[in-house]
Amino acid sequence: MADPRGFLKVRQRETQPRRPVPVRIMDWKEVYEAQEKGTLKAQAGRCMDCGIPFCHQGCPLGNLIPEWNDLMWRDKGEEAIERLHATNNFPEFTGRLCPAPCEASCVLGINQPAVTIKQVEVSIIDEAWDNGWVSPLPPARLTGKTVAVVGSGPAGLAVAQQLTRVGHTVAVYERDDKIGGLLRYGIPDFKMEKEQVDRRVEQMKAEGTRFRTGVAVGSDVTWEQLRRRYDAVVIATGATVPRDLPIPGRDLDGIHFAMDYLVPANRAVAGETIENQINAHGKHVVILGGGDTGADCLGTAHRHGAASVTTLAIGKQPPSERASHQPWPTFPTLFEVASAHEEGGERTYLASTVEFVGENGKLTGVKVAETEFVDGKRLPKAGTERIIPADLVFLSLGFTGAEPAGIAEQVHAEFDGRGNVARDGYYMTNTEGVFVAGDAGRGQSLIVWAIAEGRAAAAAVDKYLMGSTILPAPVAPTDRAIAVL
Ligand SMILES: Cc1cc2nc3c(=O)[nH]c(=O)nc-3n(C[C@H](O)[C@H](O)[C@H](O)COP(=O)(O)OP(=O)(O)OC[C@H]3O[C@@H](n4cnc5c(N)ncnc54)[C@H](O)[C@@H]3O)c2cc1C
Ligand code: SF4
Repeated sequence: MADPRGFLKVRQRETQPRRPVPVRIMDWKEVYEAQEKGTLKAQAGRCMDCGIPFCHQGCPLGNLIPEWNDLMWRDKGEEAIERLHATNNFPEFTGRLCPAPCEASCVLGINQPAVTIKQVEVSIIDEAWDNGWVSPLPPARLTGKTVAVVGSGPAGLAVAQQLTRVGHTVAVYERDDKIGGLLRYGIPDFKMEKEQVDRRVEQMKAEGTRFRTGVAVGSDVTWEQLRRRYDAVVIATGATVPRDLPIPGRDLDGIHFAMDYLVPANRAVAGETIENQINAHGKHVVILGGGDTGADCLGTAHRHGAASVTTLAIGKQPPSERASHQPWPTFPTLFEVASAHEEGGERTYLASTVEFVGENGKLTGVKVAETEFVDGKRLPKAGTERIIPADLVFLSLGFTGAEPAGIAEQVHAEFDGRGNVARDGYYMTNTEGVFVAGDAGRGQSLIVWAIAEGRAAAAAVDKYLMGSTILPAPVAPTDRAIAVL
């Protein structure tokens, strides 16, 4: 245990400082400042090393949180990263981007603010990179088996790293020009700079993973060809089909899916010249949908110099404290203030969008009404309509599932009723030797779940190829709830 009296001496959370808003919206760099080591150690020292560490169960990866809190507190950074890497291939991604369901199940959270687990995690991996403690772990021998992983988001990267390390020859196919999936072109640099992805890819290359960028499986090469060429194929193509809002005025100029805004914006930050890039400079922006994607559009619009940004959510504003039906240690739905929300903009709840209005084919506003709940349905309340002026609308309404991309026709893998690629309890589709991991099988989720599924699917592939496996399987395809007693 770290400090036996730590939780009595330090009763407050101290979270990572963020750069001042007027400064940070002038650039695209991460919003966080480094935290002072003493403060971090004091937080790690609050960990009670509980007999039953509920945080293990709260984290889909089963991260060994009390162990590395203790090691971090004792200044044993090299041992701490060894324990952290034991369950998490990419703590620099989760340490920056995870909503930290572990903290919701921290036992201290029953009567005190939870330990700042996510920050301890990111400090351990950042220190490890700085000190050269992260090195490639190539396999001792090769098995002679080959695996194609399609998609290079966190799920595909986790599958590939696990399988490469046990000696399989793994090739990652990615249709984009660079590796990373949503980590690369979805999530803006102000949440995570891309150097984090680049150095992991270098580590993986040194371990032996091969990367084939600019190859769209389904068209440049068929799924059938991959299945014939490799002993196993893993679909890790994400859930990329955006949910639309087919209401009057949808065809007006100025209404875009969020990813049509975020992807070019990320590319521009990476130094690319983008033709006809959507730019919010001087515009009135309305974002429909209050999730992560909406927040990323908000932060991007501020950095572009938007005149105003309004986020509309159809539902009620979540509470700032746990509701009674979501008791500890469940992961509650709470009113979240992400870094982008601190930077400005208006957040409106109970707002049902009924029509896009415009002139001469161009968007000029969004007609909204108050949401009312009738027989459990969310409906616009008659007589409450008003128009919010808008030059640009970003639809951030979630995703409806995986792109078919020839999966069904070429390799006969079935989709389930929710638009995801169907799989059995071992991540295998109905086609032998073809597996699915991450958002493609689960639906749009979180990075921590993508890594956990990637690790578990790798174990399933290894067992399929070799008859047994030493790889861990932290989650089953059906696991959903987090830390429910
Ligand atoms: C804007 C946005 C912000 C988000 N922010 C957060 C956050 O802050 N924290 C968090 O935990 N989660 C966040 N998420 C969710 C998280 O990013 C995803 O759950 C996670 O990336 C899923 O990983 P994945 O590997 O399954 O798929 P993806 O990351 O989507 O990667 C799939 C990859 O497959 C490639 N691909 C698709 N089809 C083909 C094909 N036919 N051939 C070759 N390649 C193909 C794609 O180009 C892509 O690179 C966010 C999501 C979005 C959209
Ligand atoms: S990966 Fe997420 S849930 Fe797991 S320990 Fe880190 S912050 Fe917590």
